[in-house]
Amino acid sequence: MKRPIPYGHQWIDKSDIQAVIQALKSDWITQGPKVREFERKAAKYCGAKYAVALSSGTAALQAAYLVTGIKKGDEVITSPLTFVATANAIVYCGGKPIFVDIQEDTLNINPKEIKKKVNKKTKAIAIIDFAGHPCDLNEIKRIVRKHNLLIIEDAAHSLGSEYKGKKIGSISDMTIFSFHPVKVITTGEGGMVVTNNKKFCEKLKILRHHGIVKKPKKGNWYYGVENPGYNFRLTDFQSALGINQLRKIDNFIKKRREIVAKYNRAFKDIKEIIIPTEKDYVKSAWHIYVIQLKLDKVKVSRKKIFNELQKRGIGVQVHYIPIHLQPFYRKRFGYKKGDFPTVERYYQRAITLPLFPKMTDKQINRVIKTVKKVIGFYKINKK
Ligand SMILES: *Cc1c(COP(=O)(O)O)cnc(C)c1O
Repeated sequence: MKRPIPYGHQWIDKSDIQAVIQALKSDWITQGPKVREFERKAAKYCGAKYAVALSSGTAALQAAYLVTGIKKGDEVITSPLTFVATANAIVYCGGKPIFVDIQEDTLNINPKEIKKKVNKKTKAIAIIDFAGHPCDLNEIKRIVRKHNLLIIEDAAHSLGSEYKGKKIGSISDMTIFSFHPVKVITTGEGGMVVTNNKKFCEKLKILRHHGIVKKPKKGNWYYGVENPGYNFRLTDFQSALGINQLRKIDNFIKKRREIVAKYNRAFKDIKEIIIPTEKDYVKSAWHIYVIQLKLDKVKVSRKKIFNELQKRGIGVQVHYIPIHLQPFYRKRFGYKKGDFPTVERYYQRAITLPLFPKMTDKQINRVIKTVKKVIGFYKINKK
């Protein structure tokens, strides 16, 4: 069998390897000058004042929630259509994730639903730019500002995306990125929070380093811990990789967008498939490409199509199982099937196709051909 095409993949070249080797030969291998350079360059790239590098996107989420002051009993309104980390990190802080349904077209949190759930216990709104498509940030801001709530944007999919001409990272109170290998750029593992708020930046830096605050007035050796923090540090050699990846980000996104254009052209006239949306006021970095099957037209389940594609070497995935249907969230918070019809309907019919900048034309064409063949097969055999 031909080698399967994965749904996502890093692109590491010689210059990346060289950058990591250089960093390993320097005096610092954990948090040092490369971390600060990575932070400076990432903040500049997205038009934010401050950036704090952390050991993962999940650590970045947890740190951002803690800085927001989320604690036991607080509620955070969020989308059920995201990676589990967005909600898990709320639970780490003792908070309760309040899920609300998504919009059918962008698959992002529905601003109208947010409004209905705001109450005295609400501490923040955690939004995610699904597949790289930014949320309607102005609309969400308009709603939450009235209630003095902070917006934390999980932008693990949308580094380099734009909303109304502005880069993601420059708009929300805190924006979180992940540098996992399938994301837009990678450091192996890694994450970042960018913000325009100096206080947040300072608190994040303390949190990532055990809660330690230096107090030279009491002696050059002295430090105090007022709140126990974590070891959420990123290494210097990971940051060296991140800096070099960031140099190439525009090309990565260009490639992603070209592949998406090819897929869209190939699938737009197939009546069994709904292709993903990109609103005219955004530019998506296209972390993933999700098609939805019109189940009444395909006449077989998503599972059948999924398995058939997988059997033929297409590394399909499903992003994501709605979080409110996960056993923990059902048991702990009482969520159940039927709570959020739009996301549940989406889940029944979604399939993620391979998309990564290093994809060859041959691989792209193989995905297109295989999808057409598998869907065509069921069409003929069900008539
Ligand atoms: C990848 C991802 C995360 C977690 O990032 P890690 O770096 O893997 O910890 C969080 N949220 C979303 C939406 C993601 O896609």
